[in-house]
Amino acid sequence: MILMQGQGVSKGVVKGPIYFYQRAQAVAAHTQSAGLEEEKRRLEEAKAKSMDQLSALADKAREEAGDESAMLFETHAMFVEDEDLCDCMDAALEEEGCTAERAVEIAGEQFAAMLAAMDDAYMQARAADIKDVARRILNNLMGIVDGGIDSEEPVILAADDLAPSETLQLDKSKILGFITQGGSGNSHTAILARTMGIPAICGLGDQLKPELGGRMAYIDGETGKVAIEPDELTLTAFQAKYEKQQEMKVLMDTMKGQEDVTLDGRHMMVYCNIGSPEDVTAVLSNDGQGIGLFRSEFLYLAASDYPTEDEQFKAYKEVAAAMEGKRVVIRTLDIGADKQVDYFQMNKEENPALGVRAIRICLNRPEVFRTQLRALYRASAYGKVAIMFPMITSVWEVKECKRACQKVMAELDKEGVPYNKDTELGIMIETPASVLVAEELAKEVDFFSVGTNDLTQYTLACDRQANDLGKFFDPHHPAVLRALKIATDAAHKAGIWIGICGELGADLSLLETFLAIGVDELSVSPSSVLPLRAEIRKSIAKTCTLEKLEC
Ligand code: PEP
Ligand code: MG
Repeated sequence: MILMQGQGVSKGVVKGPIYFYQRAQAVAAHTQSAGLEEEKRRLEEAKAKSMDQLSALADKAREEAGDESAMLFETHAMFVEDEDLCDCMDAALEEEGCTAERAVEIAGEQFAAMLAAMDDAYMQARAADIKDVARRILNNLMGIVDGGIDSEEPVILAADDLAPSETLQLDKSKILGFITQGGSGNSHTAILARTMGIPAICGLGDQLKPELGGRMAYIDGETGKVAIEPDELTLTAFQAKYEKQQEMKVLMDTMKGQEDVTLDGRHMMVYCNIGSPEDVTAVLSNDGQGIGLFRSEFLYLAASDYPTEDEQFKAYKEVAAAMEGKRVVIRTLDIGADKQVDYFQMNKEENPALGVRAIRICLNRPEVFRTQLRALYRASAYGKVAIMFPMITSVWEVKECKRACQKVMAELDKEGVPYNKDTELGIMIETPASVLVAEELAKEVDFFSVGTNDLTQYTLACDRQANDLGKFFDPHHPAVLRALKIATDAAHKAGIWIGICGELGADLSLLETFLAIGVDELSVSPSSVLPLRAEIRKSIAKTCTLEKLEC
């Protein structure tokens, strides 16, 4: 048996034969230059061909894995035309009198080395993109078509490192899993593997040798373990996990299309939490009934400057339209505390979790808020969008949010821009203050959603980022559950619905309690939808009083 340990970057256990990725080895021909002008012409031709290929790949990526994946190829296209990279190729042609192939090789190596030497992990990961771009131009110069999978049966694809374009061009029906020598959880290949739901392990290093091709392996994308021809004990452990996973899949598939209803007829709305438009694919494939939390901050965190109204509108509209009339709760910007965005140039704070974060930033910076609200209202014309404000503590904050919404609606009316006038407005219950004034807050909005991650943090005075608080950070604490009950009663008294969108919503051991408290909605990660539905359908909804939520 050979046992290898890497970094699990996309969950799941699979078994299958290892297949080493056949990459056409394009090595620059060190032949005589055909003359500066001719080599320049060849280089331009290969770059143009590369641009065409990348544009086709971007279209394919958009179709199969969403806009974010398509962006990879758009970025590659930008690299092909990058002024510095092109200058470097031209300089090699002119100064070294070499072939176009050699010029591409020199420029590619120089740029990749420069990126790899940077301190920033993200920039380091871009070195693989530059190599990918250089290889593409080189292949086009040499008329080489890159490899695929020459196997009848599905395989575990092994490689030194897979470039994003390579990953995307592969025939997914033939791939059980990915294992690579290099790469990181940050790399685009890992991101793509997760998007496609294919187990993946990276960072296996030199132990992953081409000689292992053809041998039977088990991989566990959660633990990062690879076992080749495992001994009996290891095999039993892998097999048990694999079988459990298969059984669960079959069982969970039977839950698709079923109602989220208890044995005694209580309905629960089971929605999903997402972080970007691409996650909608997983929502739909797991039969999520709506989106209970779209963390809009991904747009801000991923950008190097404030995202424009149109950029935001496009993202929100994409999600709203894809959900085809199912509710999509989009939370306004929730940065600050652990989510810092440089271009916001926030003051340094002693206690950022208690500082200017979330709605406080929006209320302090009306222009930032206005831009997002305009994008949200414009998107509301394309689906059932609901807007949710995070980190509320006071009634006046909600009134101010509503005034900002009114202003934006008046603007859109004036401009003749379509939007839904009845767009639901809700708030997150994440602070003890919001629980204590829940009755007053409930009169102002259409729904509550409890952010148990923050509610636990603020109720128990436990930093959610700290990893040494152990048993002190206890989301099952009666104080948290009673807070939930108080907010639920207040919501129902005002005739509005209440959900949970914090991690606790997926805690099956608390489902009975949530039902008894009277929670109407649970918003969980897409992969938790079907297990939750299975549990709801086995449950009976009791009721409970505050005192019953005991210490
Ligand atoms: C929460 O606090 O529970 C929540 C859902 O918001 P976030 O985790 O994004 O702060
Ligand atoms: Mg929160």
